[in-house]
Amino acid sequence: MMTKTLAVLLLVGALVDTASGQPTSDLATLQANPAYQAALDHLDRDYDRFVRELIELTEIPAPPFTEDARAVAYMTMLQAAGLDVEQDGVGNVMGLRRGTGGGPLLAVAAHIDTVFPPETDVTVRRSGTRLKAPGIGDDTAGLATLLAVIRALDAASLETASDVLFIGNVGEEGPGDLRGVKYLFREGAYRDRITAFMSVESGGQSAITNGALGSRRYRATFRGPGGHSYGAFGLVNPAFAMAGAMQRFAAIDVPENPKTTLSVGIVRGGTSVNSIPFETSMDIDMRSESPEELDKLVEAFLGAMDMAVDEENATRSVSQGPIELDLELIGDRPSGLTPASAPIMRAAIAAARAFGIESRQRTSSTDANLPISLGIPAITIGRGGLGGRSHSLDEWVDIDREPTVRGLQVVLTTILAVAGPAE
Ligand SMILES: [Zn+2]
Repeated sequence: MMTKTLAVLLLVGALVDTASGQPTSDLATLQANPAYQAALDHLDRDYDRFVRELIELTEIPAPPFTEDARAVAYMTMLQAAGLDVEQDGVGNVMGLRRGTGGGPLLAVAAHIDTVFPPETDVTVRRSGTRLKAPGIGDDTAGLATLLAVIRALDAASLETASDVLFIGNVGEEGPGDLRGVKYLFREGAYRDRITAFMSVESGGQSAITNGALGSRRYRATFRGPGGHSYGAFGLVNPAFAMAGAMQRFAAIDVPENPKTTLSVGIVRGGTSVNSIPFETSMDIDMRSESPEELDKLVEAFLGAMDMAVDEENATRSVSQGPIELDLELIGDRPSGLTPASAPIMRAAIAAARAFGIESRQRTSSTDANLPISLGIPAITIGRGGLGGRSHSLDEWVDIDREPTVRGLQVVLTTILAVAGPAE
């Protein structure tokens, strides 16, 4: 929750340059700038093109690990919007918009990947102002938003102090495990230059994600000798070992605050009804707002797995071999927090407020997790507009002009507030 002190600061409207930590501007100055007003107007005039590009991008499938067709199309669009573009080693596409300051670099990203498998029908269907297609909101609308914002900045000749790197990144959704931003911050050409990060996601603008919800995901596989259910009765059974493991896992005590959760998402295994299985497995999801609580939970999970295996090996015969446990880490998202007092948060809150939106803070799992865990100021904002049912085949966005354009305007204003106006 926002503190009183912060609210007062925002009323004064003082913003702080993310690089120098010195106050350089306020939104009143920005609002009085005719070029800024021209940029806002341009977003309205550009509405039809925004919708067209949204549909075009949505209809290029982008399943996890198979984002390249859409990435290449997006790179062409970034280029058409006037940027020098490049694609990095993991598949992220990006274009740099130079600022006047020559120093700090704000990265603004939307993710290219969707959760949907390749065979999904991604044809956009329209009824009234509603467009329906898998992935159209999350995060294809974010990609289209960045294009509209770049064009508006250029049309109005608006310069920023910071360089702004616009990115369509891969690997945000579950199985991708943030591989796009991991590459960006660990190996990418800009890794040492990015001083602030903002991702633009589907969703409203009344919440700004500054808390990174960490998660750890495992596939636990239990293997044994297997055998005939009748003839080999008495041998250790991977299903029993896994059942014991699940029960112990479910019994782990987690705090309500900071919110910490655990779940078994998928279970598999077995050969036939009359066989002792030689293999069973389950996929585990653990999350926490707190890195310490997440570590504690993972410890307890690992202990529960070992104990269940030992118990099965002690209960039944290991004459043909014991139960063995194989643990594979299939997801690792770090947690952390960009404080509400950080300049990037103050700028984003002030930008939303300029449109009458009072934003609250939110903790979520997004591309911002990674920079946040590295101590780089990072947030995830909504692209505005209306939409819903993300990650479902019924996903939709409403393209009613007024709220759609206002959403774009908030994003543009947030970028300007963070990147700072040209000196
Ligand atoms: Zn998303």
